[in-house]
Amino acid sequence: MNLGLQNRVAIVAAASKGLGLAVARGLAAEGSRVAICARDARSLASAAESIGPDVMAIPVDVTDAEQVSRFVESVRARFGSVDICVTNAGGPPSKTFEQTTTADWQAAVQLNLMSTLHFAQAVLPGMKAQGWGRLLTITSVSVKQPLDGLILSNSVRAAVAGLVKSLANEYGAFGVTVNNVCPGYTATDRLNGLAGKLAADQQTKESVIKERWAALTALKRIATPEELADVVVFLASDRASYHTGASIAVDCGLTRGQLG
Ligand code: NAD
Repeated sequence: MNLGLQNRVAIVAAASKGLGLAVARGLAAEGSRVAICARDARSLASAAESIGPDVMAIPVDVTDAEQVSRFVESVRARFGSVDICVTNAGGPPSKTFEQTTTADWQAAVQLNLMSTLHFAQAVLPGMKAQGWGRLLTITSVSVKQPLDGLILSNSVRAAVAGLVKSLANEYGAFGVTVNNVCPGYTATDRLNGLAGKLAADQQTKESVIKERWAALTALKRIATPEELADVVVFLASDRASYHTGASIAVDCGLTRGQLG
């Protein structure tokens, strides 16, 4: 299948490692010109090098609207347009409701909702003007079914799913699709951190926590970042031309609440 991604200009946020990096690699492998960001210049530079030549990499804190806007402008200045934007960020901490402070709630809103909004504001007018665009958000399977110990994710990601659905309806007429991709348990540093935290809380081993997670899936295993990235790459492509306003789980049957 020719995905039509050759020479498309793609931004992937929070891509120095994990899911963002896998998505950036996937898009670059299809011939897209890729621009990545994350906060730490050093790890970002080595991520860019691992993706391939001519990858643009700029340190950006995605919670900062000014920095996001400047980043998007510099991508336009270098590559001429922005065709694809994949929003992403770190995940909020694992806490119970009573452990969670107001500051934690505000930080989670900044990290996972406002960062998405900053990118949407920066890229959508240009996509509308050129009559083609793909805005993709990476959230979590918590949009489909709450995850134990992740009240911040369970709450804030739902707002992103609502934003995606609304934007899809507003921008469809201009050739712009907007979709949300919801990872299930996927092998990254973030997942290792969560497993370590839960293992300490429950006085068990990290491997036991991971086995429990794997047992919840149809294939009885945790995903690789590439398995998530492949879905994002398809949705970013020309071939996903009739797909918008959806929250798509890449969770291997983890969520049980709906038949579709
Ligand atoms: P990760 O922690 O491995 O990587 C996160 C990336 O985000 C890193 O590149 C980090 O530098 C960057 N980042 C964090 N805060 C940032 C900020 N303020 N500005 C710019 N960059 C920032 O996480 P991951 O596993 O790749 O997950 C990516 C997203 O997907 C997270 O929101 C996570 O909660 C969510 N998610 C992950 C899983 C999983 O199993 N891995 C499952 C569901 C949801």
